[in-house]
Amino acid sequence: MRSIAIDGPSGAGKSTISRRLARDLGFLYVDTGAIYRVVGLFALENPEVPLPEGLDKINVGLTYSDGVQHMSLNGRDVTSEIRAHKVSKAASDASAIPEVRRYLLDRQRGLARDHDVIMDGRDIGTVVLPDADVKIFLTAKPEDRARRRYEELRSRGQDVEYETVLADIRQRDFNDSNREAAPLIPAHDAITVDTTGNTWEKSVGVLRKIIVGRLGLE
Ligand code: C5P
Repeated sequence: MRSIAIDGPSGAGKSTISRRLARDLGFLYVDTGAIYRVVGLFALENPEVPLPEGLDKINVGLTYSDGVQHMSLNGRDVTSEIRAHKVSKAASDASAIPEVRRYLLDRQRGLARDHDVIMDGRDIGTVVLPDADVKIFLTAKPEDRARRRYEELRSRGQDVEYETVLADIRQRDFNDSNREAAPLIPAHDAITVDTTGNTWEKSVGVLRKIIVGRLGLE
């Protein structure tokens, strides 16, 4: 099986670009942030069950229909709910707990054992799939990432301010980069791509070229 690891801070375009590439190349797209979001949602809804002890009360369901990843929490479909702004912070907090990361590791590796995957996250190239065939670290200036996230949330009907999204992106960057457990850093063998100012087509094209070259698909 072949695997492509795409890591980077939030809003760099990982999921949109990875989804398109996976479709083009016939790989399975795995959004690992969604898995952390399900755990974050559980923590928000169950403040009386602190993590990591509460982990054994969480059943994270991950299924695909028409290539779209659906998530469930203890049998309830939460695919849309986990995109809420408040869940981002809860996911970031949950993801800093080493036991949570360990608990989710096998799940992520299992998907890559059974399928050709494009997996996006924060520690895919460094921890989850250190032997990935291609590793890309996708980044962009915070203002650019905040603008994309803001437009995405607005298009989903969420009432947020740009300044709030920017402050939140900076805070999450700080949390994700400074935590002790699997901090957000490029793998030593990752190729860094900065998407600041790019259209989606441009970024997809840049990554496709790297991947096709590395996998010898030309
Ligand atoms: O990618 P997304 O914004 O959906 O991820 C939500 C949060 O989950 C991130 O802020 C990050 O803290 C955490 N995460 C992680 N490791 C991953 C994927 C996401 O720590 N592989």
